[in-house]
Amino acid sequence: MNLKSQLESTLTPDQLRILQLVADEAPQSGLPLYIIGGSVRDLILGSATKDLDLTVEGDAIALARALAKRHGGKVTAHSKFGTANWFLPKDLMTESRESVDLISARSETYKHPAALPTVKPGSITDDIRRRDFTLNTLAIRLDGAHFGELRDDLGGMDDLKQGIIRALHQKSFLDDPTRMYRAVRYAERYGFEIADETLALIHKARPLIAKLSAQRIRHELDLILEEWNAAAMLARLADLDLLQPIHPALTFDSSMRERVANLHTYRGLQHLSPWNITRGEQMNDSDLGWLLWLMSLSQEQVSALNDRLHFTADLLASLFAVSMMFRDQSSFVGWKPSECVEHLESFPVNAVEAVGYVARDPRVKELFDEYISKWRYIKPHTTGDTLKALGVEPGPRYAVILRQLRNAWLDGEVKTAEEEKRLLKSLISEN
Ligand code: ATP
Repeated sequence: MNLKSQLESTLTPDQLRILQLVADEAPQSGLPLYIIGGSVRDLILGSATKDLDLTVEGDAIALARALAKRHGGKVTAHSKFGTANWFLPKDLMTESRESVDLISARSETYKHPAALPTVKPGSITDDIRRRDFTLNTLAIRLDGAHFGELRDDLGGMDDLKQGIIRALHQKSFLDDPTRMYRAVRYAERYGFEIADETLALIHKARPLIAKLSAQRIRHELDLILEEWNAAAMLARLADLDLLQPIHPALTFDSSMRERVANLHTYRGLQHLSPWNITRGEQMNDSDLGWLLWLMSLSQEQVSALNDRLHFTADLLASLFAVSMMFRDQSSFVGWKPSECVEHLESFPVNAVEAVGYVARDPRVKELFDEYISKWRYIKPHTTGDTLKALGVEPGPRYAVILRQLRNAWLDGEVKTAEEEKRLLKSLISEN
């Protein structure tokens, strides 16, 4: 089968131009060149692909150097991995692309279950066989006259057409248990079925989840939380009993599902309402997902989960904060604005916004919204310099006075600069 016309109709002109340049160079170096894996899968499904996954059967670094010699630009080589970045010369650079990644085909073997793979240079056959699922084993050859030839060693095309996620061999999940999470991610992303024999392998490999490092599991869950239908993926993981083996506190009940299902809309709203959370304050997508998912956990559960998953310090602080606010949310009703601000300002702003977003009581929602969009910005005209100029002895008193002035503004006890001055005078003489 030849997929030349599919390449031409689906890739962007920028991707196609780069592909053609590399494809023309490869035969000069005598190196078969392929795109392989996710980019071929996406191409056949007719969706845009971000990465081109250009794989050379042979020395990718040599090919990158030959390209730089002919067209200009610079090469950064990673000889240990046989990969190279060709940084494009100015005339080939575009807004969306500064460099091209070239990878040498490789084989991967696993010394023991759940180990990281031992990587060696290999043939394209090896490179196909190291993959996770048949739908990711398709390759399209690109060099010279071969441009567009489909290579389908393992029945990937049939599975892709029938919508089936199928592991390549019996030991696949024992070698790499993270593939269980990838299976669910692909299945829910594309609405595909996981093959029965692959499901059976998942059941057998479940005990190995305990062997995965914090970083590897978190990475897979981060990838899921970045997807638009993360809620369906987490629900499927729970159904397959793939969450609790990570840690018993990691569950996915119906209220968690409802919250995570809002993740996509929530992100959209954040982009639309820069007056709430400013762009600089925005969290990355997966961290936001973690907050919505886990806010109903207790402090102890967050702490225990952190022992397993090693959250980043920022995310951990936000998780503790949402846990506390979510638990106490109804107690905020009826608080004065100054009381809210004094309480909420000790928490990361994203955490406050996330709890406000899912709060059921409209009064709590409004309060959190007011805090995010207005109250947290309110400051008195008076500053430390003003106090100094008025002869107030520097010290902790400054903070007390400034806070009292701010609170007066927040609670509407002061509405003009004149009123603030009057209050300031009385505070100074009082203190
Ligand atoms: P996405 O569309 O989510 O970016 P992708 O399929 O492009 O997914 P990557 O994580 O970028 O996936 O990996 C690129 C390719 O490498 C995959 O298509 C797959 O063939 C292979 N791969 C990635 N992770 C694994 C793994 N854990 N085991 C085996 N093969 C893997």
